[in-house]
Amino acid sequence: MRSLIRGVAVIRRPEEGVIPKADVIIESRRYAAVIEGGGAEGEFDRVIEGEGRLLVPGLVNAHTHLAMTLFRGLADDLPLMRWLEEKIWPAERKLTGEDVYWFSLLGLVEMIRCGTTAFADMYFFMEEVAAAVEEAKLRALLSYGIIATSEERIDSELKRAEAFARRWDGKAEGRIRAALSPHAPYTCGPEVWRQAAQLARELKIPIHTHLAETAEEVERFTAQHGKSPALWLEGLGVFAVPVLAAHCVHLSEKDMEILAAHGVTAVHCPSSNAKLACGIAPVAELLAAGVNVALGTDGAGSAGDLDMLEEMRWAALLGKLKAGDPEAVPAPQALSLATWRGAQALGGLKEWGTIEEGKRADGVLLSLEAAHLQPGHSPLSDLVYAAHSSDVVGVFVDGRPLLLEGELLTIDEERVRAECRARARKYR
Ligand SMILES: [Zn+2]
Repeated sequence: MRSLIRGVAVIRRPEEGVIPKADVIIESRRYAAVIEGGGAEGEFDRVIEGEGRLLVPGLVNAHTHLAMTLFRGLADDLPLMRWLEEKIWPAERKLTGEDVYWFSLLGLVEMIRCGTTAFADMYFFMEEVAAAVEEAKLRALLSYGIIATSEERIDSELKRAEAFARRWDGKAEGRIRAALSPHAPYTCGPEVWRQAAQLARELKIPIHTHLAETAEEVERFTAQHGKSPALWLEGLGVFAVPVLAAHCVHLSEKDMEILAAHGVTAVHCPSSNAKLACGIAPVAELLAAGVNVALGTDGAGSAGDLDMLEEMRWAALLGKLKAGDPEAVPAPQALSLATWRGAQALGGLKEWGTIEEGKRADGVLLSLEAAHLQPGHSPLSDLVYAAHSSDVVGVFVDGRPLLLEGELLTIDEERVRAECRARARKYR
């Protein structure tokens, strides 16, 4: 299969700015050539017109709980602990594998329509999540969320997480990778963390967790353990493996140094953090300290939606507010959080995450025609500060279109919407 995107504006990686016009050739699932100015020759199986359009690396949602689309709008405007304890955890006890499958597909529809090509997900019934991902043909880092506050749950929870990881790591033509996910330092004891770190090392997979989301949680944990959650995890050897730490809102300077020294990725979830009034993660400070920062929506139950374009804008805007500096988190940097830094977090940057010859052809094609993107002084700035998911006209993973000219090609959207509306009733 040989495809051509003709005469398109391209951002290969955010730091390099915009190539105003190029012919992009995709061959055998990889980017084969980016010819500046155009002029590609030869036969193609598929030609996509790129005039008035922008091709960028696929967006990476580095922290979400896909099937929580089920809980969108179920319980809003509450603090995190009340939201979890009074609303979400009781509702989750009614969950079935089939519900998780359908609401994962619903989340995948939304993610594709917003230009997301890869994501990191942690939840329950992960077999069903993986089946949905395999069908929809996105790229994903998947893990079973371990919650084990009592001793007797440790073995069964770890076994379940391990079985999933062994079965799915490398599946779906390599698009699915597995991780281990002790949910958070406050929901898993030290033995879980020690064993998970050991197992992650053995299986050569990362750990994906939550860290320092609310001030209250960090204060309580620190009072109880005599050190911050980040220091505590380091002491247990958790950071010896690659770690994605969602939120990282409340960190000390010392915590940041530790994350940087161990190559931990902080996954910034600005809209979820804002909606739950958790605070604003110090993105500019984290980056200055040398920490990789990626971007995630968190679950649609807490964040409202899974729109990575919106999340990127939130990251730029809140990053400036937090730093008290309009020059903080400039547009190219915001785009890097949503693209290659996410690929680095998911362990895939060598293979995908930027538009380079030889890399997997993951990308998003956006129309630049809408009124809110005129007059077009800077397509990169417009992408970060003005674009909407309605501008997304094409989404590719491994060179395969998942969305083209507004049409979803791997999911029956109408059926998914109908199934989900029917299934949601029993949760009200
Ligand atoms: Zn989360």
